[in-house]
Amino acid sequence: MIEPLLNDPKVFKTHVRWAYFSLLTTTLSAILATVLVAQHQLALFYGYLWLGAHLLGMLGITVGFHRLASHKSFSAKRPLTFFILILGCMGFQGPITHWASNHRRHHATSDSAEDLHSPFFNHKQEPNQGMLAKFWYAHVGWIFCAPLANPNRYCRDLLTNPDIQFIDKHYFKWILAGLILPGVIALSFELSVSSFCYGVLSGGLLRIFTVYQGIWLINSWCHLIGKRAFDTRDNSRNSFLWAIPTAGESWHNNHHAYPSSARFGFYWWQIDLGYLFILLFKSLGMVTRIARPAPSWLERKSLRE
Ligand SMILES: [Zn+2]
Ligand SMILES: [Zn+2]
Repeated sequence: MIEPLLNDPKVFKTHVRWAYFSLLTTTLSAILATVLVAQHQLALFYGYLWLGAHLLGMLGITVGFHRLASHKSFSAKRPLTFFILILGCMGFQGPITHWASNHRRHHATSDSAEDLHSPFFNHKQEPNQGMLAKFWYAHVGWIFCAPLANPNRYCRDLLTNPDIQFIDKHYFKWILAGLILPGVIALSFELSVSSFCYGVLSGGLLRIFTVYQGIWLINSWCHLIGKRAFDTRDNSRNSFLWAIPTAGESWHNNHHAYPSSARFGFYWWQIDLGYLFILLFKSLGMVTRIARPAPSWLERKSLRE
């Protein structure tokens, strides 16, 4: 039996160093952007640039890393696979294999003491006390102390997929491209050094920060606050509030009830931009298979029925 956790102190140390680096730089960038906005120094153009970059960044994680790589809930042609997974890498949340290993372990151990980012247990598998400690640990605290899931145990399929390995191998190049590209786009607004820097700040660093918050809210908020539509064995919740900013990720109780579904928002009113993105590319012939629950399953399992 392959060990479920990586027991390599060197790898863990590198992971923690990168975590500190990315969190510090993006948090400081978010503070700087807020100051610049308060001083009316950033034109509205940079707001739109951030908004577009945030949406694409969220789609990279929810559609690419989560629905496609981790759960294989739909099949895409190669150009779309590369596009959406490279977008995911630009999010600075670790290579695909790393992200999917941690996530598959989350599903295997949801909200038990062995879960890497449950609000209820810390990295020593002791209960977190109080709402604030629970929220903080699941939101961001776990990143610095929880062990890493072993890709050899959870992601053999991804480790033997040459396309995934190619994208992972060049992980840091995608991050760099994700920072430079918005800077280059900003040059079309104004051909100046400051415009390039504001582009990198809004569409690059601030985008990484807000996508972090979006994904982390799924681990914290959506395992503590909100409604349960299905009786799953974890404490997952659905949140209408975060549905649009997280591109549909926040229908998290739905997702735990039916993890292999490419559709997270099960009803028309459960807005799911990630699923709309998949449907758009299906209409263009780039998506060849979509898994989703049958209406009879929804009727049988839903707590509302
Ligand atoms: Zn969850
Ligand atoms: Zn999942």
